[in-house]
Amino acid sequence: MRPVEPTTQGAWLLTQGSNIFLLEGKLPEGKAEDFQLTGRLAIEIGRWNGAPLWLITEREAEQEDSREYTSLRSQLHLPEVQFNLLNRGVEINHFLKTHRFCGKCGSKMIMAKDELAVQCENSACSYRTYPVICPSIIVAVRRGKQILLANHQRHQQEKMYTTLAGFVEVGESFEQTVQREVFEETGIQVKNIRYLGSQPWAFPNSQMVGFLADYAAGEIRLQEAELQDAQWFDYDKPLPNLPPQGTIALKLINATLALCADDDKSAVEK
Ligand SMILES: [Zn+2]
Repeated sequence: MRPVEPTTQGAWLLTQGSNIFLLEGKLPEGKAEDFQLTGRLAIEIGRWNGAPLWLITEREAEQEDSREYTSLRSQLHLPEVQFNLLNRGVEINHFLKTHRFCGKCGSKMIMAKDELAVQCENSACSYRTYPVICPSIIVAVRRGKQILLANHQRHQQEKMYTTLAGFVEVGESFEQTVQREVFEETGIQVKNIRYLGSQPWAFPNSQMVGFLADYAAGEIRLQEAELQDAQWFDYDKPLPNLPPQGTIALKLINATLALCADDDKSAVEK
């Protein structure tokens, strides 16, 4: 982390929580002085359009920033590599904001020089800690030519139906989390759990690990604190409002719908 020189070139990522600063829908690119960033503390976190990508660390709350910020979610249309870099910046900023003091002795933390970490400035302690990522599973469940989709309480307004998800608890395997979450939220038991892909999700510091699973047993029984509704949807009938392009949720849904279609086709052939 170092103060930015007026002529430092690159792309500039300013974050506030899970929001980022965009100029005409894009990250500002060019000289620091053109964006009033001279002297701000920055960390190079990757490459953006062939130039360094600088994360400007968030200032203390009392210092005003009149810029307008946009949710990181608005950038899901970007190529995965770029979207993930923005996640990286947001998550590093969250880490720095929440690790200003040592968890062991209470002294101030400073950036480590040799790696992305913070270290206690008290030399008798020197505790070092790293950006924290919280894994959560996300899973699409299939039963023959049907997919299980849920309307979560938080998506009630937009009537969006999506996959099930939840944080991994300490001491659990991902597969155990998949089984526990699906059962807790819907009363359904699953089998044949397969990994499909993952997505960093900086809201604020999660890592979504995506799985496909097959129905094993049970009837839908809603966990009402989490879900507004859950239903089995036929792949070849009109589907509800689904999550946006670029999300691992939609990738899992599309993979499951393709399996439903295959299943249906082979059933016809038999
Ligand atoms: Zn310490």
